[in-house]
Amino acid sequence: MSFRLFEKILEPSQIISGEGLKTRYHHIWHMDQSLKAVCLLMPASTEEVSSILKICYQNNLPVVVHGGLTNLVGSTETNGNEVVISTERLNSIEEVDSSSRTMTVQSGVILEHIHEAATNADLLFPLNFGARGSAQIGGVISTNAGG
Ligand SMILES: Cc1cc2nc3c(=O)[nH]c(=O)nc-3n(C[C@H](O)[C@H](O)[C@H](O)COP(=O)(O)OP(=O)(O)OC[C@H]3O[C@@H](n4cnc5c(N)ncnc54)[C@H](O)[C@@H]3O)c2cc1C
Repeated sequence: MSFRLFEKILEPSQIISGEGLKTRYHHIWHMDQSLKAVCLLMPASTEEVSSILKICYQNNLPVVVHGGLTNLVGSTETNGNEVVISTERLNSIEEVDSSSRTMTVQSGVILEHIHEAATNADLLFPLNFGARGSAQIGGVISTNAGG
């Protein structure tokens, strides 16, 4: 089974397959529908993402990234033959630099957590919309959400 390809690079807790997929879904408004996928992987570093993509490329496995699952266009739906990469463990705020007014974060950080980190540094992160409690910055940037 294809999910076994990833056992050499990820811990068992980072791989969800088979029955485990029944606890996962493709969108926050469809939590009652089990995720259809070869497996769902939860990398915790850029290096793990890179290794996953290398294996997927070598084995011709399609990939779908799951961020906060708040998109309104069905772009996180799957058919069952895809490897899903969830960014939920890539959720570190690495640096808030008040003097340059920049923040360095991993792609799975939730928008609202970015707001909080900015506020704590007496700054404002102005991009804001209704899905801020679930949408992740990687999903926000990839969809250009909020313009
Ligand atoms: C209540 C509500 C209000 C909303 N309001 C607005 C609004 O005002 N303006 C607006 O523009 N949108 C709005 N949206 C849409 C939605 O919030 C955005 O599209 C959101 O930013 C998507 O982020 P996400 O993390 O949920 O991404 P997901 O839904 O998980 O993914 C969206 C797409 O991005 C890809 N993706 C996700 N993460 C990555 C990554 N790290 N690298 C590469 N690709 C990635 C996915 O594969 C998918 O194709 C709203 C949605 C809801 C539910």
